[in-house]
Amino acid sequence: MSSALTWGRRVLMCPPDHFDVRYAINPWMDVSVEVDRARARRQWDALVAALRAAGAGVELLDPVAELPDLVFTANLGLVDGTTFIPARMRHAPRQPEVAHAQAWFAERGYELRRLREDVVQEGAGDALPFGDALVGGYRTRSSASAYVDLARIVDGRIVPVELVDQRLYHLDLAFCPLDERTALVAPDALDADGARALSALVPDPILLTACEAQAFCANAVVVGRTVVMAHCTPRLRRELRARRLEPVVVDVSEFVKAGGGPRCMTLALDTRLGREDPAAAAERHTARNYHPLPVTVTRAEGAWVHDDRGRRLLDALSAYSALNFGHRHPRLVAAARAQLDRVTLTSRAFHNDQLGPFARGLAELCGKDRVLPMNTGAEAVETAIKTARRWGYAVKGVRPGRAKVLVCDGNFHGRTTTIVSFSSDPLARAGFGPFTPGFRSVPFGDAAALAAALEADEEIVAFLVEPVQGEAGVVIAPDGYLRAARRLCSEHGVLLVADEIQSGLGRTGRTFACEHEGVSPDLLVLGKALGGGIVALSAVVGDDDVLGVFGPGSHGSTFGGNPLACAVGRAVLELLASGEPQANSARLGARLRAGLDGAAPAALSAVRSRGLWFGLDLQPGERRSARDVCEDLLDAGVLAKDTHERTVRLSPPLTITTAETDWLLERLLAVLDAPAPLRLAAPPRGPASFAA
Ligand code: PLP
Repeated sequence: MSSALTWGRRVLMCPPDHFDVRYAINPWMDVSVEVDRARARRQWDALVAALRAAGAGVELLDPVAELPDLVFTANLGLVDGTTFIPARMRHAPRQPEVAHAQAWFAERGYELRRLREDVVQEGAGDALPFGDALVGGYRTRSSASAYVDLARIVDGRIVPVELVDQRLYHLDLAFCPLDERTALVAPDALDADGARALSALVPDPILLTACEAQAFCANAVVVGRTVVMAHCTPRLRRELRARRLEPVVVDVSEFVKAGGGPRCMTLALDTRLGREDPAAAAERHTARNYHPLPVTVTRAEGAWVHDDRGRRLLDALSAYSALNFGHRHPRLVAAARAQLDRVTLTSRAFHNDQLGPFARGLAELCGKDRVLPMNTGAEAVETAIKTARRWGYAVKGVRPGRAKVLVCDGNFHGRTTTIVSFSSDPLARAGFGPFTPGFRSVPFGDAAALAAALEADEEIVAFLVEPVQGEAGVVIAPDGYLRAARRLCSEHGVLLVADEIQSGLGRTGRTFACEHEGVSPDLLVLGKALGGGIVALSAVVGDDDVLGVFGPGSHGSTFGGNPLACAVGRAVLELLASGEPQANSARLGARLRAGLDGAAPAALSAVRSRGLWFGLDLQPGERRSARDVCEDLLDAGVLAKDTHERTVRLSPPLTITTAETDWLLERLLAVLDAPAPLRLAAPPRGPASFAA
């Protein structure tokens, strides 16, 4: 099933205070016809309400007394990410509208790019993005030459189509993109070439009859899967619903007197024009092993990202804790930059001057002797398993080929063939056998089950456990479980291996999650935030008597311990040495938790948290899936991630500020339909979210 339009969630509208028919520049306008201003206002208010109910954000442009058509904001220009291309209006009475719009965009930091003075281009009313193209209507209003000029600015594929019906004089009366596959098309309004071009472009068009087109059916505003329209026939309703689109009809009859419908009254602020959509390219050219939210990040700083549609969003996922210190932390970027100018890679065939100091620092942080550096988390987990097996044979004396590693139900340790061999998630395993033997699984958090398993099998060499199961939904082991695991492992001569790839390095309010129970594992497995969100850097950390089992040639990695990663890793260790990220995580995690507990959103059945790490379970009765909630959060300006259908995960950067945390809470409560204890605040400006 195709997904919703990726634009149209933020629109610019102008209240109809001065709307009127004072001149006649299209066949609909008749100056002798009276406009009922009060009725127009009610219709406009109802349109705004319908758009908001569908999930659109509406921003307002001040009305101007001398500009009766300013209400038709679609014609004011084109928005391309953070660029505004002011319209060139054909008719003199509308021309002053453009300067007014231009000032609005300039005030908000948009870059202005101008079309040549000798062209006519009536904004988004005549140019609509579909897929990787920008469809441009010409002749009745805009000029064909406008699209030659526009190509200079939007630098992408433009599909010009000739409009042939004076009554359907703007493209948005003849063409309406509905989602990535579907659009409303009024073929009678287009010349033969234009109709052909659109049928080549739109995989699944809904063709409008002449009557539907004349009733302004195409002049609709699409918000997600809601189509806000001036008119809808039973046939059209069926066609839309067959595509999971829901029509909402609003009365805009006063505005039709001037030749405008709902679409004409909105200018989408979140459009990106022409250029190939990078997200579409990724969908087309990468294996389909991910289903990202519909957002394309183009830059980021601190806790905030910007997308290619000019939105500023709070990153409350932080790449699953790999961005514990926020995006592009100045000290981490400086360390990487300095190292880029010196040496980036040596391989372990030679020494480099960064690995030693990094390993010493990391070993000290963990209270251990040695570090074995790798790159990704999965590699570090593989390394820990190899360490445990080797140790089992060389030190514990297990018979060759018999060593077993005990793991927990619901675990997530990565994606290699061996690691998925002991996953309990069918999705992670299906079709990837034969699996690596030598693993047993016990229920997470059940000390008695762990004791029984260890008792029953002397060939167990290690117990591999996440102190907090992240992927499972931020599931926290019951109090005392890690302490019991420590004791039981020691009693049975079994290595306690803590996968702190996600839970470690400050996430839970302590440097390591094991610290909450005063437990020191035999092996610590680290990754993600160790590379500062800049490079892949992982490690296994342990004492001589365990990591000492490796000899030259027994294990390795070309990139493991490379000087670039180690230089960033050293800067990460310095940030952690201050204790600030950990303290911030504990303090703001408690604040966010108190806010959630206080509001007790009815949509949630459970909240689990440790530090700035949250798993929010949706009530069984909640009609939205966790993915739906994450999409709603995205619309509200927050990036989060669903897991296992019913849980939303949050792990904002540990460098987030109090104001940002409160803003996040307000957004969460708004999306979860809980009464917000605080006033909904504007997003805090500026990249405040770096620890000093
Ligand atoms: N272990 C844990 C606890 C994780 O959360 C992850 C990743 O989410 C991994 C291992 C795998 O790390 P990577 O994706 O870097 O291989």
